[in-house]
Amino acid sequence: MPELPEVETTRRGLAPHVVGRRVVEVTVREPRLRWPVTPQLSRDLPGRRIDNLTRRAKYLLLAAGDGHLLMHLGMSGRLRVVPADTPAGLHDHLDIRLDSGQVMRLNDPRRFGCALWLRQPPDEHALIAGLGPEPLSDAFNGDWLYARSRGRRAAVKAFIMDAANVVGVGNIYASEALFEAGIHPSRPAGRIGPARYARLVEAIKQTLARAIDAGGTTLRDYIGVDGGTGWFQLSLAVYGREGRPCPRDATPIRRRIIGQRSTFFCPRCQT
Ligand SMILES: [Zn+2]
Repeated sequence: MPELPEVETTRRGLAPHVVGRRVVEVTVREPRLRWPVTPQLSRDLPGRRIDNLTRRAKYLLLAAGDGHLLMHLGMSGRLRVVPADTPAGLHDHLDIRLDSGQVMRLNDPRRFGCALWLRQPPDEHALIAGLGPEPLSDAFNGDWLYARSRGRRAAVKAFIMDAANVVGVGNIYASEALFEAGIHPSRPAGRIGPARYARLVEAIKQTLARAIDAGGTTLRDYIGVDGGTGWFQLSLAVYGREGRPCPRDATPIRRRIIGQRSTFFCPRCQT
């Protein structure tokens, strides 16, 4: 599943090809995504100039005048830019043809992604309005997490994966950041002090930034006409390493289910 770093990598890869371009035509081959792609998109978007491509959580926002195309890659979605005469393949559900002679093409085998045409400010949309701060922004800091967590008995791992507290901390990144910060994933969120939250926030930012940097090296493949993918593998300290030695003290890594998700940690380094 594309996580925040892959979505940000996608944004960076697409932006130079789409921003400033005018949309010539929209082709919807399969409107049944997570929510239906409405006919308004094919009617309204052509003729507009793409002003910007931004990201909020795992949503991509294509700004075009007073309208926005809100896209999510779901479980299996990919966005590519290819020459307009590239034949569409299986699961190529949506094409946005640009005046550059290229198309931005959405491929999504499982169709959990979406492409919603909004005529309201995206911040007011129900999918966006309740989201917590971006993890790489200054608004996400130790004081914020500390204040949000007072009185909360939920495990800290579930707490940082809750999008109302911070967006984009996926399962792998949560385990890795908690290891980095030396915090046990089951510890109640309300029982962690400000200094440890400051460390945790730094660890989350570094883990995500490293992943985005790693993705940058695969950008060329990502946008390539061959459909090569940009998914990348981070070197992981604990995730997926049950029974293997902790990189710090060689204690066997443990696995536990927290909030229905596999969680990996070192029982000695993390308290
Ligand atoms: Zn350890």
